[in-house]
Amino acid sequence: MATTRRRLQNADELKAAVDVWIAKIKARPRQIRIQRMKRKWASCSNNGRVTFNSELLRQPYRFQEFVIVHELLHLKVPNHGKLFKSLLAAYVPHSRFRPEVRKTE
Ligand SMILES: [Zn+2]
Repeated sequence: MATTRRRLQNADELKAAVDVWIAKIKARPRQIRIQRMKRKWASCSNNGRVTFNSELLRQPYRFQEFVIVHELLHLKVPNHGKLFKSLLAAYVPHSRFRPEVRKTE
């Protein structure tokens, strides 16, 4: 059931979408931040702080969704192993696996 959604256009919309995915994935982030990042679309720290690049707000929805799910999954699976790939494919079927969420795709 692929749904086409319009781009998340501001921090509130992005945070709302992140909250939906937190509930779906049952992830437990300690903090969600949105800020400018130089080299990555998102990052996840060891203590559960997830940061999303504010430049994501100019990306298409499908990519935004991919980055959100990718990063939240790291709260459960810290690496890019088999489990990570299969969970990512289950939650975001349209998305091919990308090893790191770097800005230079
Ligand atoms: Zn990753």
